[in-house]
Amino acid sequence: MTPDAQPTPQTPPTPPTAAPAARPHAQPTPQAAQAPAASSLTAQKLRNAIISGNIPDMIESIMQYALDKGASDIHIEPNRTVVRMRVRVDGVLQIIVEYPHNLHPGVVSKIKIMSNLKIDESRIPQDGRISTFIGETEVDLRVSTLPTVNGEKVVMRVLDKSKKIPTLDQLGITGRNLQRFMAALAEPNGIILTSGPTGSGKTTTMYSSMTVLNTPERNVMTFEDPIENQMEGLNQSQIRPHINYTFAAGLRTALRQDPDVIMVGEIRDRETIDIAIEAALTGHLVLSTIHTNSAVQTITRILNMKVPDFLLSAAINLIIAQRLARRLCPHCKVAAPPSEEGKKIIQKAFEHFKPYPGFDMGLLNDPVFYGPKQGGCPQCEGKGYKGRCGIYEILTMDQKMKASILEGLPAYELHRIAQEQGMITLEQDGIIKALDGDTSLEEVYKLVKKKQTPNATTNTSMSNMAGFTPSVRGTDDPAQQPQDDFGDMSAEEAMKMLYG
Ligand SMILES: [Zn+2]
Repeated sequence: MTPDAQPTPQTPPTPPTAAPAARPHAQPTPQAAQAPAASSLTAQKLRNAIISGNIPDMIESIMQYALDKGASDIHIEPNRTVVRMRVRVDGVLQIIVEYPHNLHPGVVSKIKIMSNLKIDESRIPQDGRISTFIGETEVDLRVSTLPTVNGEKVVMRVLDKSKKIPTLDQLGITGRNLQRFMAALAEPNGIILTSGPTGSGKTTTMYSSMTVLNTPERNVMTFEDPIENQMEGLNQSQIRPHINYTFAAGLRTALRQDPDVIMVGEIRDRETIDIAIEAALTGHLVLSTIHTNSAVQTITRILNMKVPDFLLSAAINLIIAQRLARRLCPHCKVAAPPSEEGKKIIQKAFEHFKPYPGFDMGLLNDPVFYGPKQGGCPQCEGKGYKGRCGIYEILTMDQKMKASILEGLPAYELHRIAQEQGMITLEQDGIIKALDGDTSLEEVYKLVKKKQTPNATTNTSMSNMAGFTPSVRGTDDPAQQPQDDFGDMSAEEAMKMLYG
């Protein structure tokens, strides 16, 4: 389960603590082995609760721990010999504690009671919700149970209601990207789409847009599944597909509710995009997300849904593609000069780049990059990374782009034209953020590049490496659409490519 997490603006470091973990991690990673023990007061409280068999304290402590760490999910999973508790922080799972099986039935029952699930049903999966206060913080947890061979596994997705919505520039949308985004948000009508894979922070970008749009003069309606943050002033509605209250049904209802701005959780089908276009063309601003990999691929996907090109180009104002990269720990990052080959790859990425004031192209001749320190430091708990930062590609539907779509130009042409019109690609924005020392090059390439396979012999240009389909109009069979042609490169492969 990888939720749409949000980039973390620089957060103050957690104070390091000295007490070693009572139970060593079952499978320590090389980094974790060298790192100081990840133990805070809460982790100690959790271990004490396990030792004394105090189940309510165990559950409260793991929730508190997840909240302290800004974790997105808690996993409680029975293995053959022990039950382990893990949390997902910055997109990566880490083991917190392990406890003996004899405590597990009590833990599962307590969580089921808290989330109104059937305690005596352990043969089928169940879904529920916990709304509670942990200390002063109001938290919602989405609970899912699953029968496994070793017992019931519980996953809780943490929705911290007190979490402040970051502004667009706190997300890492800055400079020309921010100007373009703000211009689109100021339009009275049109569609703004955010694209990216699961867990790339699309929902957060939508919420951050609301910090601009949520004013007393506007009727803002949202249709979400789930409602992750409640914002004062919005009309937020929870979608329930199992009773036919779908995104499309929500959108249709919205049009009868005198809206100015409509946010729809996701566009997945023709019906939803059709109503979104109708809403946009009748004077409303529509924001939504779509599961594609790049701005241009979003155009391809919608055309493949058989939406006529003239409607698409008339209705859509802005397309964002995004990724979340791990942020380098500012306390221990180390300089990492790329190889000559690596430099060439980076320079090539800026081939069609349109420079903007404040960006020094000369930086690319002898670029300085940073990487994580092996073993990290106490501030990042030995990981070398702490928090995340967004990487963005923002395409504006200007006259030139509209004309190019109507001409039926192939996707790689659209990608080039968009750059000439000022779009900063994901790869370029990632490199710019790596030049700023926010993240590492291998992190960027892991997220934005496809691994080159020996079979991919047709063309070695970078746009081809990015895996675009040869033509805007491709097949409409979703199975034949490129689903994940970004990011199948591992950090190791990226390291090899860039550093030799
Ligand atoms: Zn560090």
